[in-house]
Amino acid sequence: MSLLRLCQVGMNRKNILFLFVDGLGIGIDDSDKNPVFSGSCPNLADLLRRSAVPIDASMGVSGYPQSATGQAALLTGENAAVFMGRHIEGFPGPRLKELIREKNVFLKLKNMGLKSTFANAYFIDDSKVLDSWRVQSVTTVATLSAFGSVRCRDLMEKNEAVYQDIVRDELRPRGYTGPRIDPAEAAMHLAGIAKDHDFTLFEYFQTDRAGHAADSEKTGKVLSILDGFLAPLIESAERCEFQLIITSDHGNIEATDTAGHTMNPVPFVVVGSSADFFKHRIKSITDVTPAILEWFGN
Ligand SMILES: [Zn+2]
Repeated sequence: MSLLRLCQVGMNRKNILFLFVDGLGIGIDDSDKNPVFSGSCPNLADLLRRSAVPIDASMGVSGYPQSATGQAALLTGENAAVFMGRHIEGFPGPRLKELIREKNVFLKLKNMGLKSTFANAYFIDDSKVLDSWRVQSVTTVATLSAFGSVRCRDLMEKNEAVYQDIVRDELRPRGYTGPRIDPAEAAMHLAGIAKDHDFTLFEYFQTDRAGHAADSEKTGKVLSILDGFLAPLIESAERCEFQLIITSDHGNIEATDTAGHTMNPVPFVVVGSSADFFKHRIKSITDVTPAILEWFGN
């Protein structure tokens, strides 16, 4: 039976797994200048060559696109750079936090009666600990505003949350003594969460860190982990278990000639039956949340 036929007979899932990959732009297809095409991440390279729609990350504001405003735009559909008057790096301040709290996709989906979640694991015992964090990511602010809590250590240890580096290596210095998780195994943990929710977000920011570090060995390792994680997710999406969306907030890792962000467009990739639906609606990072809401509203 063809894949399409399988999808038509009831396995076509509307639920979305949104993989946010920080600092991944569409660069040139040259293995010497673009690590994404250097062989360390064949699945990602294939997806980018085959089906990525290049979308704008600049939001019509001069300067290099940055994480706080870019991620806020992705998760709210608002032009956060215009709202703030410039691109804001790293973590949102009070004014941008307010926008994220009021307009994020989790909250909007909740108001539509849909079940969504942020699948990232926090290595803490209680979400209340986050109140004392000096800085909070866009995803943390959005998650707390919609649900009041995040996935803590207990859920990660039950494999019901995925740590941000996928394999849990970064948790060792923080006292984690559990197993290293193979990227393909972590993908299965994430797929399990995605099957239980209408909308699941996972954030991978090691790509942006590696781009800033400008260290080719680290870059290769990070891309290889991401690729091992992606492979089973692509297969699951092709089996119509969920719609897999992959996008980014700005370019970085795709260019070896700079350790900073780039002006490149970012990829918008969909694996699943909704590919045509999204492809025609998304030209900028501000279009992502509105299109997701429209997909569920249909
Ligand atoms: Zn960055």
